[in-house]
Amino acid sequence: MTAPSRLLLSTDALVANWRTLARMSGDGNGGAACGAAVKADGYGLGAREVVARLRATGCRDFFVATWAEARALAAPGVSVSVLHGVREGDMAHVGLAGVRPVLNTPAQVARWREAGGGACDVMVDTGMNRLGIAPADIAAGLLDGLVIETLMSHLACADEESAMNPRQRDAFAALRGATAARRMSLANSAGIALGTDYAFDLTRPGLALYGGVPAPGLPMRPVATIEAEVLQRRRVPAGATVGYNATWTAPADTWVGIVNLGYADGYWRGFSDRGRAFAGDAALPVIGRVSMDLVALDLGNADVGEGDRVRFDADLPRAAAASGMSQYELLTGLGARFERVWA
Ligand SMILES: *Cc1c(COP(=O)(O)O)cnc(C)c1O
Repeated sequence: MTAPSRLLLSTDALVANWRTLARMSGDGNGGAACGAAVKADGYGLGAREVVARLRATGCRDFFVATWAEARALAAPGVSVSVLHGVREGDMAHVGLAGVRPVLNTPAQVARWREAGGGACDVMVDTGMNRLGIAPADIAAGLLDGLVIETLMSHLACADEESAMNPRQRDAFAALRGATAARRMSLANSAGIALGTDYAFDLTRPGLALYGGVPAPGLPMRPVATIEAEVLQRRRVPAGATVGYNATWTAPADTWVGIVNLGYADGYWRGFSDRGRAFAGDAALPVIGRVSMDLVALDLGNADVGEGDRVRFDADLPRAAAASGMSQYELLTGLGARFERVWA
């Protein structure tokens, strides 16, 4: 059985992106170490495969959202931080070698202490008002005596020019020495692009590892390319329509390819009339509505027939602009039906 749609994944591009981000973090240069956010199954690409490749490249610090994600990745020599910390229902799962919670609330801190403590990370809120304990609680001694590996905070506006950025950086820097933390970590992908004064001791890129471009001009390489098969090649006469709600009308007799891909695969409806695929160098525009499992392409003069495979545009900023989705959503929405093929 051959999968009708595949996700072609590039080890070279993933590794090159991590090295670029590590260099920008100052890794190997007396600067920060570079970790990797691999939550949401490695942003849809496959966390196990991503971790194996990044470990081989020298990455040691990995970040997931939940304990189920951590359990799937725990292995000797791997450090995994669970960003959502410890809910009551998580306590049965703690104790995995190399896995630490990122404590986010006073209740989580208390729960962790009651369970005997042990190495943990702590999230402090420096202005995003999402997760994290207040700097005032640190000053009041909330963390005293805890064995903290990494104190972290998260930037709200790293992907734009905002006064929030230096404000959060300075609030975080003011906490140096205020806890027993061995390391401090602030920057996600976009935060790395803000400069080394945002890198502290450890950076946590996700998006940019996978080919997302969080700030203009960053040299990230696409890692994932959708390849799908043409199920039918058909001649659509001038004036006839294609697909649900008949939104596209052929301006002239047109060769159309119906391809095995749809919004159930994470190829969203926003690509209707706006996405594009390629056959070699020939660009093939998406025409009409994207269906759940199918999409129609204008084949033009391309020599593409039933059973041939086409590749969809892998440039994430361009695909995000076309579809109206964020680069994050395009990656994490990649569906379960793809055969994920690493080269
Ligand atoms: C997801 C996440 C990251 C990675 O963010 P990117 O924007 O994908 O680089 C880093 N830190 C925290 C706390 C996160 O939740």
